[in-house]
Amino acid sequence: MRNGTGAAAPVSTQDPVVIIGSGHSGVAVAAGLRTRGWEGGILLIDAEQELPYERPPLSKELLKDGGPDEPAVLRKEKFYADRGIARLAGVPAESIDREGRTVQLSDGTRQAYHRLVIATGSRTRPLTVPGSGLPGVRSLRTRDDALELKRLLVPGARVAIIGAGYIGLEVAAAAAATGCKVTVLEFQDRVMSRVTSAPVSRHFEQLHGRHGVRFVFGAAVTSIDGGERAERVTVADGTNFPADVVLAGIGVLPNQELAADAGLECRDGILVDGDGRTSDPAIYASGDVTRFTSPIDGASQRLECIQNALAQADRVAAHITGQPAAEPEVPWFWTVQHGVRLQTAGVRHPEDDAIVRGEPAAGKFSVVYLRDGRLAAVDTIANLAEFRTAKRLIARGVRIDPVLAADPAIPLAEAIYGTPNPTDADLAAARS
Ligand code: NAP
Repeated sequence: MRNGTGAAAPVSTQDPVVIIGSGHSGVAVAAGLRTRGWEGGILLIDAEQELPYERPPLSKELLKDGGPDEPAVLRKEKFYADRGIARLAGVPAESIDREGRTVQLSDGTRQAYHRLVIATGSRTRPLTVPGSGLPGVRSLRTRDDALELKRLLVPGARVAIIGAGYIGLEVAAAAAATGCKVTVLEFQDRVMSRVTSAPVSRHFEQLHGRHGVRFVFGAAVTSIDGGERAERVTVADGTNFPADVVLAGIGVLPNQELAADAGLECRDGILVDGDGRTSDPAIYASGDVTRFTSPIDGASQRLECIQNALAQADRVAAHITGQPAAEPEVPWFWTVQHGVRLQTAGVRHPEDDAIVRGEPAAGKFSVVYLRDGRLAAVDTIANLAEFRTAKRLIARGVRIDPVLAADPAIPLAEAIYGTPNPTDADLAAARS
């Protein structure tokens, strides 16, 4: 794909910018267009009925006993009204006519667009083993999913969680805090293997263990059995695990079908450039549903995080209004499990060298990831200051001394520049 340029002349038109999808990214595009002075119409099309809401609490505080009854809304009704942002709720888009620049909606109407933004996000990867459709087998993506799951997470309930990613572990923590008996069944040999290194996985596995969560690794689920409802989960070696509730947290798939059916280039995500442009100049895409080339390391990536949803939305709004976009930001992620916060800056590759800084047993440590001698990513556990420093340093693409980096007494910046107060010459040398 092309690289973004941040420059397209705005064209005055009667037709609105139509945004399909009202998640974090879609709403941010609408807000960003107004902030950047777009005076034409804006129409947000949402498959769900509710006002767009925050997703991070769905797998965290919303599930907890005594937690909120509803996720907070992203923006109040008044926000949309005051800014002339029209919303069509509960009306999924069904197809795109690129020639006629219209979107076909599920209620039979057709909506013309000047520019179209596809921000359809992702959906849970479905569990396909026999018994997956039994009552009591759930996934978690929407507000309704979360509220239904919360109803099932009662003290003493036996909860089998399939998948030890962010969803599985955050739900495990909430369920354990509610007094459920939690077993996590994971394909891989450690938790969060897609996103972090073994030392961090070990730390979180032990943390969960202290809260009574049991793990089974190398577990390939073969069926879910029961009569009226799910009663047990069976894995490939024949072992079965009694369960009143089964949660599948086995990853997500991009909602790219509208784009693919309209002939836009897709490859596990809608392909976009640095400005969010698809292969059709009148159509943009933003958020989880996109795949793009990282401006930091040139890797092809699909990022499932709010930071990217918002940053990409801003770039789309900038391009539509013909304004310069902000500098690309290093992606970052976070999760909280049993009150312990893991913050990640940058995107780790499995082959990166991992250097542990600090003592995991102390509960506060970091792991820095080096690629070709340069700082590429960092995980920090209960260490916000180091997370912030690392985020800045990753953006600069600096070299780092692995021996100094392993010493937590030496601040990260000093490990890179050899001095706590780098001069311009030090900075230039570290980047060369
Ligand atoms: P995920 O991070 O991809 O983790 C899914 C895990 O389940 C992977 O380890 C996967 O192993 C494993 N798995 C897949 N199929 C399996 C099977 N049949 N049996 C056992 N294990 C299986 O996905 P997720 O946890 O479901 O999260 C979904 C989405 O929500 C992601 O976009 C995530 O970023 C987002 N989310 C983010 C946060 C946060 O940032 N704090 C919180 C919640 C959700 P393989 O890698 O081998 O497939």
